[in-house]
Parts: sequence; structure tokens; C-alpha cells
Amino acid sequence: MHATVVVIGAGHSGLAVSRRLTERSIDHVVLERGEVANSWRTERWDSLRLLTPNWLTRLPGKPYAGSQPDGFMSSREVAAFVDEYAGEIVAPVHTSTAVTRVRLDAGGFEVSTDRDRWTCAAVVIATGPCSVASVPASAATVPPSVCVHTAMSYRSPDWLPDAGVLVVGASATGVQLADEIRRSGRPVTLAAGEHVRLPRTYRGRDIFWWTDTGGILDERHDEVDDLVRARHLPSPQLIGSPERRSLDVNALVQQGVAVVGRFAGVVDGVARFSGALANTCALADLKMDRLLDRLDEWARRTGADVGPPERFRPTEVGRPALEIDLARAGIGTVVFATGYRPDYPWLDLPVLDRRGRIVHDGGAVTAAPGCFVVGLNLLRRRRSSYINGADADSADIASMLHRHLDTAAKSYPSRAN
Ligand SMILES: Cc1cc2nc3c(=O)[nH]c(=O)nc-3n(C[C@H](O)[C@H](O)[C@H](O)COP(=O)(O)OP(=O)(O)OC[C@H]3O[C@@H](n4cnc5c(N)ncnc54)[C@H](O)[C@@H]3O)c2cc1C
Repeated sequence: MHATVVVIGAGHSGLAVSRRLTERSIDHVVLERGEVANSWRTERWDSLRLLTPNWLTRLPGKPYAGSQPDGFMSSREVAAFVDEYAGEIVAPVHTSTAVTRVRLDAGGFEVSTDRDRWTCAAVVIATGPCSVASVPASAATVPPSVCVHTAMSYRSPDWLPDAGVLVVGASATGVQLADEIRRSGRPVTLAAGEHVRLPRTYRGRDIFWWTDTGGILDERHDEVDDLVRARHLPSPQLIGSPERRSLDVNALVQQGVAVVGRFAGVVDGVARFSGALANTCALADLKMDRLLDRLDEWARRTGADVGPPERFRPTEVGRPALEIDLARAGIGTVVFATGYRPDYPWLDLPVLDRRGRIVHDGGAVTAAPGCFVVGLNLLRRRRSSYINGADADSADIASMLHRHLDTAAKSYPSRAN
């Protein structure tokens, strides 16, 4: 079978690209291994809510139209939002069709699936940044007597043994899981490495109001100083809750969570942690204050309608344990909330770096002209890391793709349509 473009993945990114291709009358198919919005249906924990407010959750041609613009969608609501979008744009999605191989084919690509085989002039990889849980090598040192979860296998505290829990990682996922598990009554220890501290609200406005209105989310990939580092920054310590509370190390300590340094591994049943926690937290405080300074400066310059400047209590960690005997401390579960990474076992193109990530320039995979990627962190702008980023990114990708098709039509007239 032939389509001018094959889009792989029917999450919001693949669908946004589909809508842009339709706008340009470019014929295409969207191949999806599960259902539309598969990752929101199958890969999130039960209580997850977006940390971005509803008003920011919009796709090309689909603003948020519900009654709670300042609320935070649950995974089920995100899946419904994306599913509705697929219907509205009449996306040509082939569900239950897993791509098993993508390879170069004369003048284009061959895309094999578990059902059929497609040829196309261009391919868009929209399989998301979170295909698998990213777990440190030290996870292998956890003894078999202890139950191990990742953010992908964890569902709710009800599934955990009735014992203490060590949560490794203090980005958005880690702090949210530590918070939820502590509220279930279990003793919780949180191992915190490098993290990004942010208040939920600042000067009376949601933190995303500031980053959206103040232009920070629009900073482009080619304007960011250290792009590689910026693309791999941990997600900010935020939670989307009705009371709009901040969820940082101080808040967790107040709830009775024991906070320790970065997890280094287990030796003879004893978990070891870095002694650098105080420094790590001081750095996170410093970076948060620098951002707040920048927001204050922007508010002063623009005369924004906001409350008076605020500063937040520095993180207090006391004297954190460097070692914990897991059995003696009654820890029955370790949850690795250490991030996610993309995974492309089916991608037979010379486009991956040594860590298995696609090398691209703002979404254009230069080593394989005609191949594009969407939905990755800071793909084209800071906004790209959020659902909201698909709006502008999909327009840019469709424009680059259209140019590629025009050029290819001159070289390979039979394949570029
Ligand atoms: C825990 C968590 C919390 C998040 N919170 C927020 C938030 O608060 N706000 C926000 O804006 N965003 C949030 N995100 C979303 C994040 O921003 C991601 O960028 C987003 O999920 C990516 O969307 P996507 O469409 O690119 O990929 P996905 O939604 O992951 O879609 C990829 C699709 O590709 C399919 N696929 C994969 N491999 C194949 C294959 N071989 N063949 C066919 N199909 C395939 C998958 O089944 C899936 O449907 C969160 C993500 C996670 C993991």
C-alpha cells in the first residue's frame, strides 16, 4: 500500500500533524499500535492529573471548551479529549497496527507493520518521548525480597505491599507518587537527585500563566544555550490539584516523608544515598529564585496585573540518612520515578545517537531526509514538552514536510504523491 506520508502514533502529536497534512491536502495514514491516545489509556497511574491547567491544553483547531479552564485533566479526560479530536478532524487512523520496521526505500520509506506494509515519500515519528521507563543501573541492586515498580508499572498505593516505600526521583512524578503513597498511611522515603522546584502559583497567578504569557514557553530550540541539557531537564515539581497547592521537598517533609540524597544502590540489604542533598536542594532553590527574578522583571516591564512579589522558604533537609537498612526500616517497595525515554527498536534508519535518541534539527531528521519527528521535549520550543506545543510544532513540521515533498517530486516524481 502507498500513502504520501505515514504518521506513526495516534497520540495528540500524531493527530495534530494529521490535521495539518489534511489542511494541506497531503494524503496520509496514521498507524497506531493500540487505540487513539493509547499511552493515556494504558501507561499512567490511576490518580494522575495533568500539571498543566486546562486552558493550556489545546490542539490545532481545538481549544479547551469545558467549564473548568483552571482545572487539571485526569488521564481519562486527556484520553477523551484526544479521542474526540481524532473524530473531529476525521484522522485516517489505523488502530491495532504496530509498526515493526521503518527502512529507506528508493526515494522514500518502507513502513512494515504487524498487519501490512506501506511505502511513502515521508514518515513522521510521533511515538512520544515516554515509550519506556528510564531506570538507573543501580536498580539492579535492589534485593528480590523488595517489590520494584517504575512510574509505568505503578497504578495506586492499593497495589503495594503494606510496608514502607522508597521513591527514587524527585521530579513531578516522584513528588506526586511520594505524596500519594504517604497519604495512604505508608512510611515514605524520597531519594532526591537534581530537581526543578517551582511554586504552583506566583503573585496570584498559575506558574504556567507566567511562562505562557511571559514568552518563556516560546523560547526556540535554537535560542536555548545548552540544548542537550535543556532537553533532558527533569520535569518541574508540580501537581495539578483542586486546591492549587505547591508540592516541593518542604511540603513533603511536613507530611512526614523522609527525604534523602540521590539513590546509589543497595549493598548487603543497605540502601546508600548521596551526601549532596543539601547542595542539590540549594541549587534548586537558587534556580527557582532566578526564574522568579526574571518573572518579576517581566511583570515590572509590562505592568502585568499581578500581586506583590513573593519569595519561598528555602528547602530544609536537616541531616538526611546516608544509609538505610531496607529490612530494618520496613521498606517493602522501591518505586523508580526516574523518568522515561523514547524507544525505537523498529527504526532501521541511521538516525540514532549512541543513547538511542533520534538526532534531529527542530524535528527534521537530517540523516534521513523526509523523516520527521514530533512530540519530543523542547523539539522546537519550550512549549513542545507539553500537549500545547503540538499546535505550533505540527504547523512547522507540516511546512518542512511539504517543502521536502516538493523537492522530492522533482527527483522521484512517482514517490512524492
Ligand atoms: C507521567 C506523565 C505526565 C504528563 N503530564 C503532562 C502534563 O501535565 N501536561 C502536558 O502537556 N503533557 C504531559 N505529559 C505528556 C507529555 O507532554 C508527552 O509529551 C506526550 O504524552 C507526548 O504525546 P505524543 O502524542 O507525542 O506521544 P504519546 O501520547 O505517547 O503517543 C504516542 C503513540 O504512539 C503509539 N506507538 C508507539 N509505538 C508505536 C509503534 N511501533 N507503532 C504504532 N504506534 C506506536 C503509542 O501507542 C501512542 O498511542 C505527561 C506525560 C507523562 C508520561
